[in-house]
Amino acid sequence: MDDHRAAMKDHEEKDAPVENDGLTAAQLFANGDGLTYNDFIILPGYIDFAAAEVDLHSPLTKKITLKTPLVSSPMDTVTEAEMAIAMALCGGIGIIHHNSAPHYQATQVKWVKEYRHGCIKDPKVLYPFDTIEDVINIKEAHGFSGLPITEKGNMGSKLLGIITSRDIDFLDNSYYQKNTKVISVMTKFENLVTAPVGVTIKEANAILKKTKKGKLPIINDKGELVALMSRTDLKKNFDYPGGSKDEKDRLLVGASISTRVVDKERVKLLVDNGVDVIVLDSSQGNSIYQIDMLKYLKAQYPDLQVIAGNVVTIGQAKNLIEAGADGLRVGMGSGSICITQEVMAVGRAQATAVYKVSEYARKFGVPVIADGGIQSVGHITKGLSIGASTVMMGSLLAGTFAAPGSYFFNEGVKLKRFRGMGSLEAMDSRGSHGSALDRYFQSEIDKLKVAQGVSGSIVDKGSTLKFLTYLQCGIKHGCQDIGAKSITALRTMMYSGELRFEKRTHSAQKEGNVHGLFSYEKRLF
Ligand code: GDP
Ligand code: 5GP
Repeated sequence: MDDHRAAMKDHEEKDAPVENDGLTAAQLFANGDGLTYNDFIILPGYIDFAAAEVDLHSPLTKKITLKTPLVSSPMDTVTEAEMAIAMALCGGIGIIHHNSAPHYQATQVKWVKEYRHGCIKDPKVLYPFDTIEDVINIKEAHGFSGLPITEKGNMGSKLLGIITSRDIDFLDNSYYQKNTKVISVMTKFENLVTAPVGVTIKEANAILKKTKKGKLPIINDKGELVALMSRTDLKKNFDYPGGSKDEKDRLLVGASISTRVVDKERVKLLVDNGVDVIVLDSSQGNSIYQIDMLKYLKAQYPDLQVIAGNVVTIGQAKNLIEAGADGLRVGMGSGSICITQEVMAVGRAQATAVYKVSEYARKFGVPVIADGGIQSVGHITKGLSIGASTVMMGSLLAGTFAAPGSYFFNEGVKLKRFRGMGSLEAMDSRGSHGSALDRYFQSEIDKLKVAQGVSGSIVDKGSTLKFLTYLQCGIKHGCQDIGAKSITALRTMMYSGELRFEKRTHSAQKEGNVHGLFSYEKRLF
């Protein structure tokens, strides 16, 4: 070959289209193996934008779009009002569990809907003749000590003063002082900084800033206490401006229900209190009970968004979509506390379930929640990259501050309780409130409860808001590496075949984790 021809050949080879490396999602899931998130990896793309620019908007249901694709599980050790508020403040949503009496669950929904940044819902209020010991007990149990004192010891009664830790710091521990009445120690009304009903967040902020106070009681023209604002919470609002809100500027919240007929009453209470989305909580959602409930809800409350599930196959999804589902929850047996696959011999590997159901449901405009098995932020990005619109997490959020339950220590480790909703412990706890967790325990004629979950504990993960911010940043960085500037772009790239994947052998998975160190500390943020 002469020099000229050799140069031409080199040139042609350089300009030839680059053969795509790796597999498309369709190829990845084609051969019938059940894959989990750990069984595959996403190949990197081209970066021409900053991670901060990645847009995380993604649909939860046909009509609700979240700013961040994160959802907390309806489990009694994961989501009550505090978690739902944190989730919504970060642009996601929390689903309040139903292992409680209907009015309790409805109150949790109400608290989220009535949450005003900086405003403490249902603050502890003292009676003038309560004692310093009562203040100390409240501080020990709940961690706060800014307590208003009213004539009758409740909200809506005349404000007399406020007591804070600074009022009691220098008192000694004697019997006499512990029994001192708060009325003689409190800062009296005439010396208090208060604000009238109708004060805006901005004004309240300015007052707290100027006076350097920690609490701002809000009173009506009769001097009665109607709300309490806190400096700590107002500061939160500045850090989290992009919350999930409805058209009236209230935070979004969801709630789960069972498919039992009695829960029609529960739904009514939830709707009356402003719930935005209902999640039908069944481990196997393709049932006549769920289809009947779904049809009832869509007929009775046409504006209410209803997420059906759980499903893992196209056949299951088809029935629920036909019955009117606005979203589908996907996962069976992949949860951290879950023993369904072991006990029932039924379920599906989570990545395969998410891909198959999402691929089918998108033809009907029905978004999918990838529920369960999320162990790291990388799993979230993987779930989104194979078709899920949002992900639902239990264990990942369970050890954080906003999860229900108090911390305890075991061998020096700070822990919180965490349990499957199908664990015997959770099923037994339904007690007098009559909320049958028939997600796992179907009928009264069952002679024996068969557990589908375990109960245990989980290590403290610190602030929920900080952890959620870490997850958001992690997803953005993942999308940047992939070359997807938004979650929508990520899905488009996946279905067009531009997004490439690769299966991971066992040793590839080992290689992808920390290895070869004698010891290490894994700090994530
Ligand atoms: P302090 O120790 O009394 O100064 O309390 P902080 O102002 O540091 O923290 C109070 C935190 O507890 C805020 O985030 C409040 O929203 C929260 N909190 C929840 N319920 C109550 C309540 O009933 N009273 C008070 N004072 N704070 C509450
Ligand atoms: P995680 O994020 O902890 O891996 O999974 C949470 C999900 O597990 C929940 O959203 C729910 O779908 C599922 N789940 C919760 N409790 C149980 C249980 O006791 N058994 C089973 N099979 N699944 C559960």
